[in-house]
Amino acid sequence: MKRIAIVGGGISGLAAALALEKQRTQGAAIDYTLFARLGGVLVTEHVDGCLIEAGPDSFLTEKPWASDLCREIGLGDQLIGSNDPERKTYILVKGKLVAIPDGLMFMVPTKILPAVLSPLFSTGTKLRMAREWFHPPRRGEHDESVAAMVERHYGPEMVDRLADPLLSGVYGGEASQLSVRAVLPRFAEMEAKHGSLGRAMLAAHRKMAQATKVPAKPLFTSLKDGMQQMVEAIVVRIPASSLRLGTAVQGLQRQDEGWVVSAGYASDHFDAVILATPASAAAQLLQTASAALASELGAIQYTSSITVNLGYDQSVRSSLPPGFGFLVPRSEGKRMLAATFVHNKFPHRAPPDRALLRCFIGGAGNDQMLQLGDEEILRAACEDLRQILGLAAEPQFASIHRWKSAMAQYGVGHLERLQRIEDHLASLPGLALAGNGYRGIGVPDCVRSGSDAAQRVATAIGLAESKLPTIA
Ligand SMILES: Cc1cc2nc3c(=O)[nH]c(=O)nc-3n(C[C@H](O)[C@H](O)[C@H](O)COP(=O)(O)OP(=O)(O)OC[C@H]3O[C@@H](n4cnc5c(N)ncnc54)[C@H](O)[C@@H]3O)c2cc1C
Repeated sequence: MKRIAIVGGGISGLAAALALEKQRTQGAAIDYTLFARLGGVLVTEHVDGCLIEAGPDSFLTEKPWASDLCREIGLGDQLIGSNDPERKTYILVKGKLVAIPDGLMFMVPTKILPAVLSPLFSTGTKLRMAREWFHPPRRGEHDESVAAMVERHYGPEMVDRLADPLLSGVYGGEASQLSVRAVLPRFAEMEAKHGSLGRAMLAAHRKMAQATKVPAKPLFTSLKDGMQQMVEAIVVRIPASSLRLGTAVQGLQRQDEGWVVSAGYASDHFDAVILATPASAAAQLLQTASAALASELGAIQYTSSITVNLGYDQSVRSSLPPGFGFLVPRSEGKRMLAATFVHNKFPHRAPPDRALLRCFIGGAGNDQMLQLGDEEILRAACEDLRQILGLAAEPQFASIHRWKSAMAQYGVGHLERLQRIEDHLASLPGLALAGNGYRGIGVPDCVRSGSDAAQRVATAIGLAESKLPTIA
């Protein structure tokens, strides 16, 4: 019997456990233990008839791994799509909300008229957009920041008003720090092949439209009863004997072709280990086994954020602008990074007579916000909403969650770092890494990383063939 330890009970660790459980039920001679606080950042609450997501509220539909996993664990009929006919997102520009114009794909304009008529951009940026059409192909030797690339194509205003707020919504990070190759690999490929991002995006869009006659899928997918459903549906499939709940792992040592895992007052020997923790926690655990690997892992930065969910009555709901919500560029000097009008974005989230707003505060360089008490955070959120939306009403309820160092930042050179990490892992058989620190921060990427890590350790201990990379 081979023994495998999984450290970390977020969606990455749970996906790894599920993959091992499948192998076990198919007859593989394995025994695994999941050391975990279950769910990680997937936390759903029910307050006053509203469904509140404290962490992620959905995942991108085009990345299949999370939806596939949901179907596999019996949640296929629970999958819901975002209300895309209502989709409209605003950017705060000089204190006013301006709708992102039609045809903008991420930050690349593909329709001329809406971009030209939009007050989101100055005349200078509109002229840059026209010139961008003739941008020559460029095969960059080196990685660069998203900000540097976007600025080369569209100028600094596009960075401030779109690239930065959009990335801050996903990574809690800054466009000037994030690696274009790791975060927007398609942009780097499009620039190398076509030069102009606008022309490349349009060509890709047309090709897709021709290739598929199937109606477009909703942009985001979630679960009727919230993201935590995934956690619960996986946990019931894992035998209780495989769960060591609430147990933080404090030590990891290489010993006798295997690993000794220390948690609480006990130490146990395993043939293989999956570290599905944030990279910073993996770095601490690996300090003794490989200081060089630990140093690379420790260099992957994380940012913190706070979600503030606020419930309001019908009068607020009818006074809000239509759409999914707004993003706030740093230059606007607010504490809020973004807010979602949850009652518009998904069904089953708020009764018809309620408005539910989900606000993000914090992000890169704002860790000090985490020290504030709930009342101060609430006051800050309400003050920003008053200034941005003219919303003077007091919320009927508030739910505040702090996520310390939860969002990995793929800095410039991230892919090269991953290669160095792979090289170190090659000399540590039976060790696999999974989680949001490596090849994708979203829930689908984390699911894939957990399943791939399970397959990799299974191979390492002689159970399955695999050509997967060592970090998933
Ligand atoms: C506020 C917020 C909103 C987000 N919104 C979205 C979204 O809408 N869509 C989307 O796709 N993604 C979103 N994300 C990103 C996505 O949710 C995460 O990247 C993903 O869930 C991370 O999963 P994980 O299992 O890798 O890490 P985590 O969920 O962070 O889990 C790691 C686990 O490791 C455990 N751990 C750490 N050290 C140890 C130790 N020594 N011993 C044992 N356990 C340990 C922790 O307790 C934790 O349970 C969001 C993230 C946040 C924070």
